Amino acid sequence: MKSTVEKFKLIRKGHKVIVALSGGKDSVSVLSALKSFSNDLGFKVIPLHLNLGIGKFSEESEAIVKEAAAMLGTQAVVINVRDAIGAGIPELALASKRPPCSVCGLVKRYFINLAAVKMKATSIALGHHLDDLAAYALKAILTGDYDTLRKLGPKTESEEGIAVGRIRPLYLTTERENLVYALVKGLPFMRGKCPNAMRRSFESEIKAFMSNLDVKHPGVRISFMKGVAKELIPKTPLPTGSIIPCRHCGMPSKDGVCGFCKLTERALGKPAGPRAAEYVDSLIHSQ
Ligand code: SF4
Ligand code: ZN
Repeated sequence: MKSTVEKFKLIRKGHKVIVALSGGKDSVSVLSALKSFSNDLGFKVIPLHLNLGIGKFSEESEAIVKEAAAMLGTQAVVINVRDAIGAGIPELALASKRPPCSVCGLVKRYFINLAAVKMKATSIALGHHLDDLAAYALKAILTGDYDTLRKLGPKTESEEGIAVGRIRPLYLTTERENLVYALVKGLPFMRGKCPNAMRRSFESEIKAFMSNLDVKHPGVRISFMKGVAKELIPKTPLPTGSIIPCRHCGMPSKDGVCGFCKLTERALGKPAGPRAAEYVDSLIHSQ
């Protein structure tokens, strides 16, 4: 992970890196590894967790994140979505008539970016590993989804005051290597699955195909993702249209109202961006 960080220049001296922790092995390993060389490279790590309000699953995930952070000598910032806006993922999904995972993805991206902007973080470290990224990238190529492909590099850039860039320290690390790391280090991680988790069959097929290919031709996924990062992403055209601040909350939007404010207006009758911002402000000031 350290060589990936150095190879792709993901973190520099003086950076403030937020680690988005779900409680699963991947994000917990990222936190552990980044902490282990943060003094060497001179950057700061802040663990961040979102309690999504999905019953027992969310309570267990939060407890594991707190335990892992304490074990690594730090403390996690925990955003409780239901405390912040008066509804968790299940209520938002029901009221907006959208699938829980699509609502959840939007809410997670929104709160993580909001917290990172308010904490003036340099980047957000995600726990996406090689197996998933290679499957997403091949799927994006096969389906001609170049908007998605462009986001699958080792890092995305920040936009001053509105969006914080993402980094992927596990870009060249397989899921298996990551699991071994977590087990050897004795890291606590969530073993149960979210009750909403579904097998995405096309992605699973591609993932299985690529891991079989990697058995026959070791290293093929690594060279594929290096090529994606070095050759394909820089040549993929940028999307048309600009990003403008949401008129309710100031976060990024395409048309003046962000996806989160649209979703919450539909589900709760009022855009919840301003309320979310107030909650995150008070959480940061109480730390
Ligand atoms: Fe959210 Fe869906 Fe993942 Fe559950 S399975 S945590 S609802 S994205
Ligand atoms: Zn908004």
